[in-house]
Amino acid sequence: MVIIMQTGAADSEVEAVIEAVEKAGFRPWINPGVERKVIALLGAVDAEKAELVDHFSALPGVERVTLISEPYKLASRRTHPEHSQIQVGPVSIGGRELAIIAGPCSIENREQMLEAAQAVKEAGANLLRGGAFKPRTSPYSFQGLGVSGLELLAEAGRLTGLPTVTEILHPADLKTIAEYVDVIQVGARNMQNFRLLQEVGQIGKPVILKRNPGCRIQDLLMASEYIMLEGNSNVVLCERGITSFENATRYTLDLNAIPVIKRFSHLPIIADPSHAAGDWRYVTAVALGAVAAGADGVMVEVHPDPPTALSDGPQSLRPEKFQDLMGSMARVAAAVGRHIGTLAEQA
Ligand code: PEP
Ligand code: MN
Repeated sequence: MVIIMQTGAADSEVEAVIEAVEKAGFRPWINPGVERKVIALLGAVDAEKAELVDHFSALPGVERVTLISEPYKLASRRTHPEHSQIQVGPVSIGGRELAIIAGPCSIENREQMLEAAQAVKEAGANLLRGGAFKPRTSPYSFQGLGVSGLELLAEAGRLTGLPTVTEILHPADLKTIAEYVDVIQVGARNMQNFRLLQEVGQIGKPVILKRNPGCRIQDLLMASEYIMLEGNSNVVLCERGITSFENATRYTLDLNAIPVIKRFSHLPIIADPSHAAGDWRYVTAVALGAVAAGADGVMVEVHPDPPTALSDGPQSLRPEKFQDLMGSMARVAAAVGRHIGTLAEQA
C-alpha cells in the first residue's frame, strides 16, 4: 500500500500519517519525491486490507491511497514514480547520460589493468570495471587476484579519474572492497544470496545487481528489495542474458526486460552484452539494441589482448573495437534522446 500525499502537504500532516502507519503495525518508508511525498507501508501483503485504505485516505493532507499488487514495494514505480538516478562520482546513472562501464573481466596484472583503463577512458567510458574475486565454474580456473587486484583497480581509477566497479562474492570481503571501489557488483550467481544482499544493503555504496540467468524479472526486483529494505536505495539493475534453448550464444539477452523494468520499477537498468553474447563478434549489435531499447547504460568487457585473458577472453573487445562501439552507441543514444560523453561522439 502507498499513501500519496497532496502537493504541499504540511510536515505535520506527513508526520501524523507516519504515526498512523506505525500504529497500524506497518513500517513506513518515505519517498521525499520531487512533487509530493509518498509513504509506502512495508509489511505482509495479505495485511493490505480495504478498510485501511479508507482509514488512511481520510487523514489530512492525503491525496490518495493505492494498493501495490506487486510483491516488491520499494523497487516499485508506485512507491517512487520518478526515475531514480544513482550518483557515482560525476556520473548519474539513470539520467540522460548513459553509464558506460568498461574494463577487463578479471584484473590480471598492473600492466593489463592500466592499459585497459587508459583505453576505455580514451574511448569515452565513464566507469571502470575489473574483477578481483571471480566466480568461476571450475575451482581450478583463475580465481582473481583478491585484495592486490583491488589495489590495481583503485590505482587505475585514480590515474584515469574513472569511478570503479568490482564484484563481491562473500560478505566477509565487503569492508575491504568498499574501501577500494566506488560501486559494488553483485553478480548473476549471487542474485539470490539474500544474506549478501542484506549486507550490501547496509552500506551506502551504489550496487549493480545482475540478473541471474535462471530468474524472472520479478525475482530480480525482489532481490533489489532486499538491498533497499536495509536502507540502501542506490541499486542499478543489470540484464546480462538468461538461459534459453539457444546455444549459438552463451546466454540470451532478454531485451524485453528493459522496457518491462522501466514500466514497473524506478530503478535504473543497464545491459551487459558481453556475458549475454559470450562472443565479441556479437557484442556491438547487442549493446546497440540495448541502448535503443532504453537501457540506462551498458557494461562491456574490454581487454588489451583478449586471447591471453585469464577469463572471458572470447567475449572481450579489443580497445579499437570498443572505440568503434562507443561511436555507434553515441549515435543510437542520440536517436533515443540519450547521450554519451563528448569523446565518444567524436569517435
Ligand atoms: C562479470 O561481470 O565478470 C560476471 C561474472 O558477470 P555475471 O555475474 O553476469 O556472470
Ligand atoms: Mn566476465
